[in-house]
Amino acid sequence: MRFSKATIRKLHILAIMLITFTVSVSIHYVLDTGQTQKVFSTFTKSEPSSRYIINATFDEQNMLLEAKQRVRYKNTTDQPIEDLYFHLYANAFKDIDTTPFEIDDMAKAYPNGFSKGWIELTGVKRGTKKLDYKIMGEGNTNLRVTPKKPIEPGMSIELTMKFKVKLPNCIGRMGYGENTVNLANWYPILSVLDENGWNLDPYYSIGDPFYSDVSEYKVKISIPEQYKIATTGNIIKESINKDGKTYKIEANNVRDFAIVLSKKFRMNNKSTDGIEVISYTIGESKKDIALSYGVDALQIFNRLFGKYPYKQLSVVASDFFIGGMEYPNLVMIGQQLYEIDVDFPLEYVIAHEIAHQWWYGIVGNNAIKEPWLDEALTEFSTLMYFEEKYGGHIKEQVYERMIEDQYEDILGWRFRKKGGILKGLDEFDDQRQYSSIVYGKGAMFMRLLRREMGDEAFIKALREYFDTYKFKNASTKDFYNILQKNTERDLKKEFSRWLGLEIE
Ligand SMILES: [Zn+2]
Repeated sequence: MRFSKATIRKLHILAIMLITFTVSVSIHYVLDTGQTQKVFSTFTKSEPSSRYIINATFDEQNMLLEAKQRVRYKNTTDQPIEDLYFHLYANAFKDIDTTPFEIDDMAKAYPNGFSKGWIELTGVKRGTKKLDYKIMGEGNTNLRVTPKKPIEPGMSIELTMKFKVKLPNCIGRMGYGENTVNLANWYPILSVLDENGWNLDPYYSIGDPFYSDVSEYKVKISIPEQYKIATTGNIIKESINKDGKTYKIEANNVRDFAIVLSKKFRMNNKSTDGIEVISYTIGESKKDIALSYGVDALQIFNRLFGKYPYKQLSVVASDFFIGGMEYPNLVMIGQQLYEIDVDFPLEYVIAHEIAHQWWYGIVGNNAIKEPWLDEALTEFSTLMYFEEKYGGHIKEQVYERMIEDQYEDILGWRFRKKGGILKGLDEFDDQRQYSSIVYGKGAMFMRLLRREMGDEAFIKALREYFDTYKFKNASTKDFYNILQKNTERDLKKEFSRWLGLEIE
């Protein structure tokens, strides 16, 4: 997720309300009849078909990463593949018109004024042979590589690419602020080839516009000695040399690879269920409580949905104006949440981003075409965290104030009962509308499904969904099928009504 300003404001108000008085609001559902024109499809890969070996050096002076990457890709389809496609998300930061931020957020994203970022590719090879490639798409964020011969079914190809990434002075997913250097969506990452062909969507400013397959990563990164590192994967080796420190990091079955660097990090860690939870804070503020929220969320979701299949989870205070953002084994949490007087917004955002480890991280989906699938589930999982930890009455208050209000707020002024939850990112006007529909109405739909199915069947279905689509990408249809399998009630009508599509 990313949280809109309105959401953060609500979290703050709710925090104060939860402490001071109890509110009683009658619960009512806002239903609507959406159009029904979308068609489902299913395309599930059975194994990771790629591997990345990345060797990068961080040049602090120039805020530049110099890297070499080897990517192995296996054709798991039954057709020859002529071109491979990658996303070059870093190029979105080159031009003010393609930055992944809404106009109203520009001043927050760039506190010191607009600053350019980009990725420069200096060659693509297979072995010693140079390959043809073309940088294309909106903001030059797509890369097409054409091997000399098509990749036949079952065959693999390994490419080598050299690149430089210039980091903008920007406190979004990629860039740097006063405290942290955020390296997210920074290297050329394979696009997903699914039943619709290659997915070449641009870096939208709404939602979390990503979609990728799980992969294996071996990353080596050299950084100046004063920096500390938070990362996806496991640090296998740390070595100190005259230029600084080099970390050897490995990850498997992850769909992205993010790193956050800081000279100011304080680390605090605790093992739970055999998993190391590491809290990175800037200074001492909320250091222990942030760790406890991370540990609690991990334990609760392990128990509810199935075990987190990695060795570590890092909760990382970052210069990040949007609230929070999930990456495999690493959640970026906005530093401002550690600085406010109340704790509730921090807890809410940490629980939400950690829930994404299950929904979007382990069970993947196309968060551009079907963003509701991971966000609604994640938002509802966040409510379940509050229910498990504090009891049903607190969960209800959170539900009424965060979910219902958020949704009704927008309905009241410009989105009156129009359409369903299942829309692509390009179908929303702005982040505020997106949040209300996808998180607000999405979580309301999850609540209705739970009531229809009953607690036991609902949880059983979520566990089955997790087991079945672990390390794969699931679709709305896959989710529906598993829920329907676990109940006698006919969910078809509700799915159609809430999502705005016809279930076949
Ligand atoms: Zn989210």
